[in-house]
Amino acid sequence: MTFEQAKTVVLKYVGIWNAAYPATPLWAQVAPIPAGMHFRFNGFFILVNGAMFPESVVTTFFHEYGHAHYEREHGGGNVVDSEAAAIRSSLQLSTQEGLEELAFREADAIKQMAANEPYRSAVAKLNDDPLWRKYARL
Ligand SMILES: [Zn+2]
Repeated sequence: MTFEQAKTVVLKYVGIWNAAYPATPLWAQVAPIPAGMHFRFNGFFILVNGAMFPESVVTTFFHEYGHAHYEREHGGGNVVDSEAAAIRSSLQLSTQEGLEELAFREADAIKQMAANEPYRSAVAKLNDDPLWRKYARL
């Protein structure tokens, strides 16, 4: 995957969001910052580290996109549920884009992070989720 392809995927989902939720718009920027971040105000802003591989830009964006979706629906909500939604989003959108290999890689990374909270509780919540079970090879 090239950086341009990664950018195309990110812009596609930004477009889907903005068509669906014009009152709470989403912006995304790929910039030199650690991993991914998202900010909520009267809309959402996702920042993804542009120094990563294009594949990581995509999965990180999908993860933050899941956080943004969850927080938009729940007016913030709680950290563990937000994390579970973010993990699921990354797996689901990777699958949707025909990037199953990325979903397996993402699940492996999450399994390693699951030694710590909030990932530990988020993964526990996903224990019966078919997508998580598939990509985490459970
Ligand atoms: Zn997260």
